[in-house]
Amino acid sequence: MAAITMKNIVKTYGDGFQAVKDINLEIADGEFMILVGPSGCGKSTLLRMIVGLEDISGGEMLIGDERVNEKAPRDRNLAMVFQNYALYPHLTVFENIAFPLRLAKTPDAEVKERVNHAAELLELTEHLERKPANLSGGQRQRVAMGRAIVRNAQAFLFDEPLSNLDAKLRGQMRTEISRLQKRLGITTVYVTHDQVEAMTLGDRVAVLRAGVLQQVDSPRRLYQNP
Ligand code: ADP
Ligand code: ADP
Repeated sequence: MAAITMKNIVKTYGDGFQAVKDINLEIADGEFMILVGPSGCGKSTLLRMIVGLEDISGGEMLIGDERVNEKAPRDRNLAMVFQNYALYPHLTVFENIAFPLRLAKTPDAEVKERVNHAAELLELTEHLERKPANLSGGQRQRVAMGRAIVRNAQAFLFDEPLSNLDAKLRGQMRTEISRLQKRLGITTVYVTHDQVEAMTLGDRVAVLRAGVLQQVDSPRRLYQNP
C-alpha cells in the first residue's frame, strides 16, 4: 500500500483558475518524493492539499488506505516542516520538541520518554536544555523534525525549507535532511524549485508544469532523459 495516493486531484481557486489539474501520484512508504517545477506551477498547492491546509476541489487523497479529503490537518497525522522551522525562542529544545505532546495533554512520563527517544535519533540529547538561539541551523532543523517525530507522524512535508539560506548552509542542510530521512525511513514529500535539490535529495522526482504532472522518475533517469 502506498503511503500517500493522489487520484485525479484537482484544485480550482475561487475565480475558476485551475492551479492543479488531474494529478495521479503514489508515494511509497518510506519514499523521499520531490515535487519540482517553476514558480506558480502548483507545488505548494498540492502539498497543502496533502496536509489539509487547502480544500481539494476534485479527486481523492488517501493516506495509507484512508480517504482524507474531508479531514482536518490535525487528524491527518502528517508533519509539515516550515521554512523558518517555527521554533519557540523562549522554550528549550526539550520543550520545543515536546510542544505537540503538551498540547495533547500527554502525561509527563510519556512526554519525557518520547522526547528523549526523538532526541537520540536526531543526536540532540546533549542540547535538550539549550534555547534555539544557541543552536546551529542544522540543529534547529533537527529540532523541527523532532517535533514531527514525537507525534509519530506518518510523513514529513517540506515546502522549500532551504530557500532562505545562503549557498553554504543550504548544501550542509541538504546533506543533513537526506541523511536523517534515510535513517528514519519516514515518507517525505519535499517541494522545491531548485534543480540541484531535486536531483540530489529524492528517491523520485515529480515534475510539475502549469498544474500538470509531466514526469515522475528517479533523479538519474530524469537527468538522462530530461
Ligand atoms: P508554486 O508552489 O509552484 O509556486 P502555487 O501552488 O503557490 O505554486 O500556486 C499555483 C498557482 O495558483 C499560481 O498561479 C498561483 O498564482 C495560484 N494561486 C495560489 N494560491 C492562490 C489563491 N489563494 N487564490 C488564487 N490563486 C492562487
Ligand atoms: P481548525 O480547523 O481548528 O482551525 P487548524 O486547521 O488551524 O484547525 O489546525 C489545527 C491543528 O492542525 C494544529 O493543532 C495542528 O496539529 C494541525 N496543523 C495545522 N497546520 C499544520 C501543518 N502545517 N502541518 C501539520 N499539522 C498542522
